[in-house]
Formats: sequence, structure tokens, C-alpha cells
Amino acid sequence: MFRWLDDVRRREALNKPFPAEWRGILRRMVTHYAWLDTGEAARLEQLVQVFVAEKKFEGCNGLEITDEIRVVVAAEACLLIMGLPHDLYRRLATILVYPSTVFTPPERPGVFIRSPLFEQEQIAISGQAFARGPVILVWDAVKRGARHPETGHNVVYHEFAHLLDMLDGVADGAPPLHSRSQYRTWAAVFSEEFQRLRNDSEQGKKTFLDPYGATNEAEFFAVATEFFFDKPIEMQKDHRALYDVLAGYYMQDTAERERRSLETLEQ
Ligand SMILES: [Zn+2]
Repeated sequence: MFRWLDDVRRREALNKPFPAEWRGILRRMVTHYAWLDTGEAARLEQLVQVFVAEKKFEGCNGLEITDEIRVVVAAEACLLIMGLPHDLYRRLATILVYPSTVFTPPERPGVFIRSPLFEQEQIAISGQAFARGPVILVWDAVKRGARHPETGHNVVYHEFAHLLDMLDGVADGAPPLHSRSQYRTWAAVFSEEFQRLRNDSEQGKKTFLDPYGATNEAEFFAVATEFFFDKPIEMQKDHRALYDVLAGYYMQDTAERERRSLETLEQ
């Protein structure tokens, strides 16, 4: 198991108290932060502090990097690993942030099959992750996702779930798990849920998970992660087995957390 605080520089980053302005940013911009209890919030803040000290943020297309950007991205990336044995995404050094939607040219076709059609096709992306970095994020989408979990879309959860998936070298929809029996359950539950999403979306049925998750197993895990952190009560109700497998992996009970926050609101 990794011991992320064994690193001297990481411990040094924690010598200073967590900045009050950063807490203000979290309260204002990250809805999930308000769902955490005191202990969870303290643990997340520690991770955020080290993450911000360690990772390089680069603004692209004229975007100036601010504390808001650093803290919101760090909080959501670290929320995923809060319950896991982890090494704070050690292979990730740089996060590139664009102000709004990026259009990437599709992979260049070979010289001989070049057609005018390819020239026009552009794919709109709000994020992208590579096994050895960087992670690319679009700030507009990050902000929206952090404030509005009810949409089920969160580009930071999505891209960082891809990084966790790729920790074992392959993007196959299964990150390194904790035991052999967990792999067995994971395979059974995930293939059933993946097929179900595929069939439902092919038939044009309305689905709880975003149909984009039917693209392949890696996208399925990333999309399921978004919903696990964004709409856990609903996931637990409609996709119990999937919820349980993810709760077992992330070692977090997000549904309980959301329920608690709703009770606090009612009081
Ligand atoms: Zn993806």
C-alpha cells in the first residue's frame, strides 16, 4: 500500500494551515464538499493542499490560472481517492486548463484515404486524460459540474476515474482492486450493467447513466463514477449492485452522505 505522506515535501506542504479563502472557494463552488462530515472535510483539505503544491496547472488559450481553478480541480480529483490506498496520482505532473470547449481534429487518416470530410470533423471535448499525463480540462465544464451534481456530469471525476483505471496499465474499465473476490464481483456486475446500458440506449430508452458510458468499458467506469459521486441516492435505488461495487472500491458511502446533507437541509 502507498503511504502518500511518507514524502517529505508533501508533509512540508501541510505545515501551513488550510487557507480560509480556499475553504470559501470549496463552500461556494463544490456542492459535494458541503455533503462531507467534519472528518471527511479535513481529510480532503489535506489532500487538496498537497495536490495544489505538487501539480502544475497550465492555462491554455489565454486562461489565467487562479486559486479557484486549482482548488476546485484538486478537491474533485482528491475526492475520488479519499478512501483509497493511493499515491496522489504520482504519474500526473501537469493539468492543462482551457477556458471553454476544445475542438480536437480527429486522428489523421492515412494519406491515401484522406477525404474532405475528415477535414471538417471536429470532436468537441470537455476533458481528456493520458496515462502518464497531462489531464486536459475545460474550466466552464468543471465549474458547472462542481456546482450541479444533479446533472450527473462531472468532467473532473470522469477524467480522474480514467487515471485510476489506467493505474494497472490498461484502460479496461477496472482499476486495481483490493481483492480477488472483488474482481469477480466487479466483472459480473459491470458486464451486466454495461450490456444493459448498451441495449437500452440502442433501443432509445431513457437511461439513468449517460449513454456515453455505452461507448466501451473504460467510458462506462468513468461515467458510472460521475453518477456515483453526483447522484448516489438515485444510483443506489435503481442500480443497487453497481452502487455497492463502486462503494466497495472507492470505500466511500456517497448515498449516506447525500442523505445526511438532505436531512441537514430539512432541519
Ligand atoms: Zn472518457
